[in-house]
Amino acid sequence: MNIRPIAFLWLSILVCGCGRPVRPEDSDVPEEVRTLISSYQGLVKGYAKGRILFKKGDPIIFDDGKEKTFTEKLAGADIQDMFSIPYSRENDSPDYLQDAGRIRCEAFLKRIYGDSEKAVKANLVTVKWFDGQKIPFNRVGGAADSLRAVFIDLQELPEEFHDYCRGASSFNWREVRGAKQMSAHSFAIAIDINTEYSNYWRWDNPDAGELDRIGHKNRIPEEIIRIFESHGFISGSRWYHYDTMHFEFRPELLP
Ligand SMILES: [Zn+2]
Repeated sequence: MNIRPIAFLWLSILVCGCGRPVRPEDSDVPEEVRTLISSYQGLVKGYAKGRILFKKGDPIIFDDGKEKTFTEKLAGADIQDMFSIPYSRENDSPDYLQDAGRIRCEAFLKRIYGDSEKAVKANLVTVKWFDGQKIPFNRVGGAADSLRAVFIDLQELPEEFHDYCRGASSFNWREVRGAKQMSAHSFAIAIDINTEYSNYWRWDNPDAGELDRIGHKNRIPEEIIRIFESHGFISGSRWYHYDTMHFEFRPELLP
């Protein structure tokens, strides 16, 4: 579905911080901001003076104006940087450093989903999973509802696909392995499916740094990946730095 007309509709009824409606023809509203407003409806409220306005909390600067390298973006992205690597649903062999979605603006995720372990916990609901497992997930922004929709579709797949999904894990307030940034699991918007069928670049290349050239591996069937993607989840199998068990709710990258 093309979200642009929806984004336009939204923008036409939103009022920006300067007190007048944000109109589609406003050249000072970047396309990424329109995408955020339509992807996080009711939570991202508008744009004024280079800042994103939220339902709750202070505005956050959209573009800090700094040119960043790949590793600088991983360590400290602004909101614009989150869009700097486009996500492709067709990409089963990502090019060097094509890690769409690994670049996260921590301030943005904290503002949407909770800025502490306690705040995120207050937003948790459980989602039914295989073998009666209950997955804690963030209810904000439709994340948990989207995971519920994923589960319904996964159950429709033939039995042999279900093994890939068993024994999942989700919420864990922690930093990304090898980085000083909070993991998407901290916000309860990411799920790791069965590690038995998973490949992770750090397991295969324990001595490699972020800029070293590595090969690509994935054993998760495309059928499973496509179901997650159809409900707003990106797949770590589409990353150069593959993490194939990992699915993360990032609707702004899958418009
Ligand atoms: Zn993960």
